[in-house]
Amino acid sequence: MIMDVPQDKAQRAQALRETLDRYNREYYVLDAPSVPDAEYDRLFQELQALEAEYPQLLTPDSPTQRVGGAALSELSPVTHRVPMLSINTETDKSAQGALSFDARVRRSLGLDESDPPVEYAAELKFDGLAINLRYEHGLLVQAATRGDGQTGEDVTHNVRTIDQIPLRLLGNSPPVIEVRGEIYMRRDAFERLNARQRSMGAKTFVNPRNTAAGAIRQLDPTIARQRPLSFFAYGLGESQGWTRPSSHAAMLDALAGFGFPVCTHRCVTEGPEGLIAFHAKIEALRPDLPYDIDGVVYKVNDFALQEELGFVSREPRWAVAHKYPAQEEMTRVLDVDIQVGRTGALTPVARLQPVFVGGVTVTNATLHNEDEVRRKDVRIGDWVIVRRAGDVIPEVVSSVPDRRDGSECEFVMPTECPICGSHAVRGEDEAVTRCSGGLFCPAQRKQALIHFAGRKAMDIEGLGDKLIEQLVDNAIVKTPADLYKLGVLGLAGLERMAEKSAANVVAAIEKSRHTTLQRFIFALGIRNVGEATARDLARYFGSMDAVMTAELDALQAVPDVGPVVAQSIHDFFAEPHNREVIEQLRAAGVDWPEHEPAQAPDGPLVGKTLVVTGTLPAMTRDDAKAMIEAAGGKVAGSVSKKTDYLIAGEAAGSKLDKAQQLGVTILDEAGLRALVSDAVSTDATSDEAPPQKNLF
Ligand code: NAD
Repeated sequence: MIMDVPQDKAQRAQALRETLDRYNREYYVLDAPSVPDAEYDRLFQELQALEAEYPQLLTPDSPTQRVGGAALSELSPVTHRVPMLSINTETDKSAQGALSFDARVRRSLGLDESDPPVEYAAELKFDGLAINLRYEHGLLVQAATRGDGQTGEDVTHNVRTIDQIPLRLLGNSPPVIEVRGEIYMRRDAFERLNARQRSMGAKTFVNPRNTAAGAIRQLDPTIARQRPLSFFAYGLGESQGWTRPSSHAAMLDALAGFGFPVCTHRCVTEGPEGLIAFHAKIEALRPDLPYDIDGVVYKVNDFALQEELGFVSREPRWAVAHKYPAQEEMTRVLDVDIQVGRTGALTPVARLQPVFVGGVTVTNATLHNEDEVRRKDVRIGDWVIVRRAGDVIPEVVSSVPDRRDGSECEFVMPTECPICGSHAVRGEDEAVTRCSGGLFCPAQRKQALIHFAGRKAMDIEGLGDKLIEQLVDNAIVKTPADLYKLGVLGLAGLERMAEKSAANVVAAIEKSRHTTLQRFIFALGIRNVGEATARDLARYFGSMDAVMTAELDALQAVPDVGPVVAQSIHDFFAEPHNREVIEQLRAAGVDWPEHEPAQAPDGPLVGKTLVVTGTLPAMTRDDAKAMIEAAGGKVAGSVSKKTDYLIAGEAAGSKLDKAQQLGVTILDEAGLRALVSDAVSTDATSDEAPPQKNLF
């Protein structure tokens, strides 16, 4: 008896059809889904259930009755000689999936308990896009997408760029054979692609599947060429003049013989038990596979039985996809927290309504940095898609703006470190915002202390990483200044710290009190200040106070200190917490010899950057360097927009080319001498003493 359809059910079915149609278009035509597959599957199953309960609701154009999406108009249509179908999905998570499939197959074949078990082929369900490859007399003549199953799109131009797809078959090839399989993108290739996008400040791709599908369905093959794609063969379309093997597994072997990659994770088994074992084995392997799979596929192995079983609407009866937990899910962003890393980087992390994705419950996901939050347009309160594939840490891949109700609010990067309250600064060309409280910030404490005690810094022998960890974890040491208050008794109670070794460490700390300005500056762990810069700063300024109070211009006058390094130094000393720690260290008796600052550089080349290349006729490159520095100029190792002159000798190579490209003035040795002597002759007319030529 057919029941009347309640109005709310009819309305719901209509709404579901409209939503699923839109999602299909986004997924199959635009390659840009706005919801995760899991959400699509939930709505799809809801519609299927409604249609099963009220068959009057079933329309011929319902998404449950159709395969894929319509073909893109710009690509030429291809009519499939053998339709490309979908696969029925088994939603039972457990062994029940294989048991129900086996029961259905046996029922359809009219088998009873006394009949032998059915033989199945089990393989992976690759998460990519299906392709039909047509070979005539061994040559690839056409590659077409699945489209709506009857008509696909001609994408031969893009498929030819995939190295793994043979352009010519190996061995004796039939007059016509169509090979079907999945084009996919490996996870490492996807990660590399996204890392490149991030470094260019471009939008990242959502997942390997849509990136691969997007590349294949472009008009311009250079896009596919730039996105490394892979391929696995798993089926057949039309064939002529070829004796098809009698089973699926034998057909896969034949395809491998033609030169196609066929995945080795497959098996042939009898009855449902082998399928259950395969499902479990692949589930354990899934995180380690180099590509995404969304399940396993079970197929009746014998082609004669497959034909007997036939099809229902959009799916064959002889195959089923047994899915795994989704790797992408939808949830809400409850808040955005800031995590402070060991190097002071402030990372926004989305605090999520707990969601089961990729086999685990995820409550947090990184948002990388401020720009990434803007690019993905993630707001507090938003619905977002979270991806967790393999061992990759969970990530928010996009927001779902459709779901907004106006209560969401934009994330604002804090201007202070949430851990220590120091200023948070973002370098001009940097994506990362950092806490500037290097010495003071608890989040950076261990790292700062390890660096402080290092051999090239304060050189405190015996104060290794393990000991520092204990000192910090037990709140014995908070800043480097606390090290100088440590006594043998304070250390002796710690793990692996006998009284003798404690005494040695205390003695080493004591010894480090008398150091050099260079070591002390290096020990502070100022971002971008390595040993060489610490040495130059110490030599140039002569005293700690002079370094601490130097303005940006003065810092940039130091050889090899550019604007980025100068800014880091300036930010570090602008932070009162850092100055306090330095004062505490001085008060604890840490000292070093100081000297007068070197005089400000002078000469005709002050403020100029020069590069020397090739062999000069009468002077070595070191001579040229000394001459330039004596005239107040800076010598750089490579040519850039900031280079004022390139001094080029014989056999000058790429630096000369680069300078020409950038329009940098190019001089020979005589030109250099003229530059310097011009100034000397000007100086000679002056009454004043010749300028100071040496920096130090
Ligand atoms: P399907 O799940 O019905 O399976 C059929 C497809 O599986 C084939 O076309 C082929 O591409 C692939 N496949 C992978 N390995 C295979 C193997 N070993 N043997 C045979 N086929 C194999 O696929 P479908 O109909 O393309 O897509 C339905 C799924 O797509 C849905 O479950 C949903 O998750 C997703 N989808 C998502 C959205 C969205 O908005 N997020 C929209 C539409 C569809």
